[in-house]
Amino acid sequence: MKGSDDVRKVIIDEFRCKGCALCTVACPRKLILMSEKINKQGFLPALISQENLERCTSCALCGQMCPDVAISVYRAKKWG
Ligand code: SF4
Ligand code: SF4
Repeated sequence: MKGSDDVRKVIIDEFRCKGCALCTVACPRKLILMSEKINKQGFLPALISQENLERCTSCALCGQMCPDVAISVYRAKKWG
């Protein structure tokens, strides 16, 4: 079972994230939230839940918006 449904579409690098929240605004589906736990840099990092990942369209707007290049967006393999 290596179904593409299991592929994470969005990965947020908690260590790069500065907690600016621009990605939460950029996501047209409002799938990204801010954590309530401070990261090692002292910021509240962005996060996306598994449930919200399943609703992600891989539009990549969040990744384009992030000034710290902390978000990687992947598309499901079933495209190919
Ligand atoms: S790729 Fe698009 S839909 Fe998915 S979290 Fe980012 S902005 Fe939202
Ligand atoms: S835009 Fe980037 S730096 Fe800002 S909260 Fe989102 S992931 Fe973090």
